[in-house]
Amino acid sequence: MKKYLTEMPEITSVLNQSIKRCILSVPETVNEGEYMKVRSTKQKQLIISILKESERPLSINELYNKIILELPRIAKSTIYRNIDLLLEQNLIEKYHFKDNEIFYFYKGDDEHKHFILCDGCKKIYNLPSCPLKEIEDYIEKEGFIIKDHQIQITGICKSCAPKNTK
Ligand SMILES: [Zn+2]
Ligand SMILES: [Zn+2]
Repeated sequence: MKKYLTEMPEITSVLNQSIKRCILSVPETVNEGEYMKVRSTKQKQLIISILKESERPLSINELYNKIILELPRIAKSTIYRNIDLLLEQNLIEKYHFKDNEIFYFYKGDDEHKHFILCDGCKKIYNLPSCPLKEIEDYIEKEGFIIKDHQIQITGICKSCAPKNTK
C-alpha cells in the first residue's frame, strides 16, 4: 500500500480522505491497474452521457469542450483513446462530414441514423430513417456480406436557402 501512497498522488489524496472518513472504507485492492480502469470507465461513461444527451453527432472539439467542464485536466489524446474503445464496443458511431472532420453519435439500441449537414449554418439534420434497407437486402440476397455503410449528404437547409440564391 505504501508504494501507491508515494507513487500516485491522486490516489494518496483519495485514500487520505477515505481514511479520515472511515478507515474501513479504504478498498484493500486499490492498485494502479484497477485505478486506471476505474478512471477510464468514468471517462467513457462521461463521453457516453454527453453523446446520449445530444440530438446530433458531435465533433471531437465539441465533445472536448463539454468534457473539460467535468474533467478539466483530461488530454485530447485520452479522449481519442476512449472514443476508440467505445467504437470497438459498438456503442457509438462515427460520421464523416465535410473537411474530413469526424463526428460521433451515441448508437444505443435504435436503428442507426443518417445525417445531413447544412453548408450554410453548419446545422446537422437527421434523416427520418435509413433509406438503404431495401438495397442492402438485395445485396445480401446476392451473397454479399455488408459490414457498414455511410451516406454523406451536404447542402443548404431551408432557412439558409434564401441567403444563398445570389
Ligand atoms: Zn442552414
Ligand atoms: Zn443506413
